[in-house]
Amino acid sequence: MRKKIVAGNWKMNKNLAETKTLLSELKTNLQKAREAEVIVAPTAVNLYMATEELQQVDIKVAAQNMHQAENGAYTGEISADMLKRVGVETVILGHSERRAYFGETDELLASKVSKALQHDMTVIFCFGEELQDRKSDNHFAIVENQLKNGLFHINTEDWKNVVLAYEPVWAIGTGETASPEQAQEMHAFIRNTIAKAYTQQIADEVSILYGGSVKPNNANEIFAKPDVDGGLIGGASLDAESFVAIVNAF
Ligand code: PEP
Repeated sequence: MRKKIVAGNWKMNKNLAETKTLLSELKTNLQKAREAEVIVAPTAVNLYMATEELQQVDIKVAAQNMHQAENGAYTGEISADMLKRVGVETVILGHSERRAYFGETDELLASKVSKALQHDMTVIFCFGEELQDRKSDNHFAIVENQLKNGLFHINTEDWKNVVLAYEPVWAIGTGETASPEQAQEMHAFIRNTIAKAYTQQIADEVSILYGGSVKPNNANEIFAKPDVDGGLIGGASLDAESFVAIVNAF
């Protein structure tokens, strides 16, 4: 079912004490009756504490990454099973920082997606074009390829566990946001691409989040677009007041 979602990607920010503080601020200030589902993605060492803290609360916890293998000699890595066993049911895959700084390719992401789905996790699958792609009018082709190569191997039934996050790389952490019209245009294209590859019903039911410099002052007009179902928030999710304001922008 298509849901409204606001997810905060805390990246490599917030130590243990700071994570506790932010979680407690969110618990206090997020309204119980709200339109959007809320997900937070603390750094890996704080995931267990976060799931414990949020046990009685309607805020989900996501990992920012996971390994594609079941287990084994992969120093420094974390498996889907390990995440599940500490209460983490959702994982962000394909973030542009993982693609750019850690060499994550569409092919690698395809195997991470499969492993997460095999463990019945929800995948927030990120993708988006770089500035030169948009300037050369190549953005639709790039996005279509990222979807086809990283995601379109999944089965029809798996789509219920997938959330998409369109994040134009030029808008991430730059203060430059895609206009609501640019976001809507791309989100409609994404839905159409899914309808062609799968079914119209799957396309209509998947939640597509926008990410890239969403702030309290622009969230409302972006979220108002018919094919934008919420946001993946970086910088503005690190401050309780601004994150709560974005959640309340629906
Ligand atoms: C992100 O990193 O996913 C993101 C959208 O960051 P920011 O909101 O800071 O642009």
